[in-house]
Amino acid sequence: MKYLDEFRDPVAAHALVEQIRDRATRQWTLMEVCGGQTHSIIRNGIDQLLDGVVEFIHGPGCPVCVTPLEVIDRALTIAARDEVIFCSFGDMLRVPGSREDLFSVRARGGDVRVVYSPLDAVRIAADNPDKEVVFFGVGFETTAPANAMSVLHAQRLGLVNFSMLVSHVLVPPAMTAILSSPTNRVQGFLAAGHVCSVMGTDQYGPLVERYRVPIVVTGFEPLDLLEGVRQAVDLLETGTPELRNAYPRAVSAAGNTVAQQTLADVFTVVDRQWRGIGMIPQSGWALSKRYAAFDAEIRFGVGHLEVSESADCHAGEVLQGMLKPNECPAFGKTCTPRNPLGATMVSSEGACAAYYHFRRLTIGAGHV
Ligand code: SF4
Repeated sequence: MKYLDEFRDPVAAHALVEQIRDRATRQWTLMEVCGGQTHSIIRNGIDQLLDGVVEFIHGPGCPVCVTPLEVIDRALTIAARDEVIFCSFGDMLRVPGSREDLFSVRARGGDVRVVYSPLDAVRIAADNPDKEVVFFGVGFETTAPANAMSVLHAQRLGLVNFSMLVSHVLVPPAMTAILSSPTNRVQGFLAAGHVCSVMGTDQYGPLVERYRVPIVVTGFEPLDLLEGVRQAVDLLETGTPELRNAYPRAVSAAGNTVAQQTLADVFTVVDRQWRGIGMIPQSGWALSKRYAAFDAEIRFGVGHLEVSESADCHAGEVLQGMLKPNECPAFGKTCTPRNPLGATMVSSEGACAAYYHFRRLTIGAGHV
């Protein structure tokens, strides 16, 4: 497949692995903050190819996994209302709330629909003027521009029955929280290429300067990841904390400035709870006051809910790189993709699901 096969070439991949192995004088600890990269690393066996040279720890880069329990419970409360058509990307439907998930609400008769774009939800609102249509707007800087556009589109259409339950999160504050933690083990970061295609690489410069840690912006295919690792290991070996862009075919220093202007118009930066981690200051986006009429949290009055997380789930430690998924006592026993205890076992980007699907079942085997 053109534009993909050339980034999956096994001969080139093995050459990069050899270069990394030759360059490394010790084992280095890298963190990727993107569930797509986590799955690509595990699916392609990059962790095993670099065993003993690079330890990968998987950061809070799965949007489904870090969406706070309170927000899931708000979604469940809103979706259960008779007048509501609740629209979401499919991977949110099985994320457990305090007591149930969106599939359970749908099984009881709730109108919960899977959509492939927030604009689909706007169209559903236009087609159903007697219903309240709510879109579940979660994710990182990658999904936010389309969500912002859908709010603007609904406004242009004059729709008064469309709203959005927003829980966006931002990568740099999460990296700051990890680097500031007394338990931090991260020596270098692979930054997510798609986030940087929107926001640019410049936003990571202050992190490199403040924490003296190399950050390499990296893509998602095996050769992209190996090239990012190669550059990160090179910077670590030479003691050079630098920002590098190993994904220049998609990412620029400034990013997509048109998208950034739209985001600044529609959203405002707020403190945000991260599931399993807690409050990270200034780490999320909420709808700005200008667009409060589209805020589902206000429209349905679901600001304050009591929540209770499963005591058996250690996803917070997994998301901070303090625990490997297969070190969780529930992994593969009481917690499986079919019966997940935590969001990291549900999502197609979750680290626990990656370890389960790609058979990293034994602690120490294929150490990541
Ligand atoms: S294996 Fe299951 S219970 Fe353990 S941390 Fe992952 S999601 Fe939570």
